[in-house]
Amino acid sequence: MPEPYDLAIIGAGIIGLAHATIAAQHGKRVVVIERDQRANGASIRNFGFITVTGQERGQSWRLARRTRNIWAGIATQAGIEIAQHGLVLTLRRPEAVAVAAAFLNTEMGDGCDLLTGAEFRQRFPEIAAGDALGALVSPHEVRVESHIALPKLVAWLANVHNVIFLTETAVLEASPPRIATSRGVVHADAAIVCPGEDFVSLFPERIAQYRLRKCRLSMMRLASPGFRLPAPVMSDLSLVRYAGYAALPQAACLRTRLAQEQAAHLANGVHLIVVQSADGTLVVGDSHHYADLPDPFAPAAAEACILDEFARATNLAPPPVVERWTGVYPVAEDRTFFIDTPGENIRLVIVTSGTGASTGFAIAEQTLANLYGATSGVAP
Ligand SMILES: Cc1cc2nc3c(=O)[nH]c(=O)nc-3n(C[C@H](O)[C@H](O)[C@H](O)COP(=O)(O)OP(=O)(O)OC[C@H]3O[C@@H](n4cnc5c(N)ncnc54)[C@H](O)[C@@H]3O)c2cc1C
Repeated sequence: MPEPYDLAIIGAGIIGLAHATIAAQHGKRVVVIERDQRANGASIRNFGFITVTGQERGQSWRLARRTRNIWAGIATQAGIEIAQHGLVLTLRRPEAVAVAAAFLNTEMGDGCDLLTGAEFRQRFPEIAAGDALGALVSPHEVRVESHIALPKLVAWLANVHNVIFLTETAVLEASPPRIATSRGVVHADAAIVCPGEDFVSLFPERIAQYRLRKCRLSMMRLASPGFRLPAPVMSDLSLVRYAGYAALPQAACLRTRLAQEQAAHLANGVHLIVVQSADGTLVVGDSHHYADLPDPFAPAAAEACILDEFARATNLAPPPVVERWTGVYPVAEDRTFFIDTPGENIRLVIVTSGTGASTGFAIAEQTLANLYGATSGVAP
């Protein structure tokens, strides 16, 4: 494709790829420039869990619903397997049931169900403990295996939409129409910078004003339990971490009780997500430790808390750990993402809440409408 491109995207994580997808679908001639051979950070270390239920009420929840729909459409076209659907959030304290019941009474509860303990045991006997008080069941989620899905998305963008990928190429300066890279100059009329947790290479002074920090998460892959999970699983601890539940007044009582009963879990920022891969293995996490520069030493105590919560919430003895890894994402205290404007033809997009797989495509629509004008026909 001859230069100049219409649009240069910097960063081939899910946020960069989401922007490339929406732009290419609207006929833009796109080049994606990535420092590594392929995405190797948060975007392939995550659960691949496109979560709607539990996202912060309002904008994030709406972005997640839209992004889930876009994922579902693209998955078909790009040959990406939707590995799991929905969510089962197990409830084992009356305070947790109260949060789930309150959630169900909001607009966010649309389509969700609150099962009693007996209904939970009858419907999901594989994972329901004898003393479980119930479960919140959502049909809205989809789950992809990110480290397989992203390369498929890249191949589809390249083959079907003629998106050009320049990999092992660092962008040193983005001032369209001139994009200076470690391999020479690329020409593009506009640029969207999606740098993930790199706060220093491009527009550091713009990024600094958002007072970002980094969050490090511990993750594990467990051997197959020998059966298919009915859906991704979460638990009581998730109700005080995910803003869609945690901001409800009923969450205060649950938080107080958890502080008494699971203080080590809260201190390590542990809550439970369990998803299952095609080979039956389980991806299980996670913990949350915050720092300007997270050290590389993942505490064993956090891992022990995750496995402890796995056993309590699923009624299963944890299968052996077969892989461990950490991941890092940017966080801000006061926003879940931002679209910044360093120049007329430049946008800088960072998701600051660990929800990029769940909200990225809809954020990309907003960015492109912002860049090209809401009436340009690029994105709704
Ligand atoms: C362990 C873990 C679990 C998670 N689970 C989920 C989940 O289940 N669901 C969900 O919605 N979200 C989840 N998240 C959050 C989600 O993964 C992130 O929000 C998302 O991946 C951020 O994508 P990104 O493209 O902004 O960043 P990244 O994936 O970090 O990609 C940024 C890319 O930009 C490149 N880059 C940066 N600067 C330059 C430069 N100057 N030149 C060239 N290239 C550059 C980098 O090399 C990198 O590849 C999780 C995160 C982690 C860490």
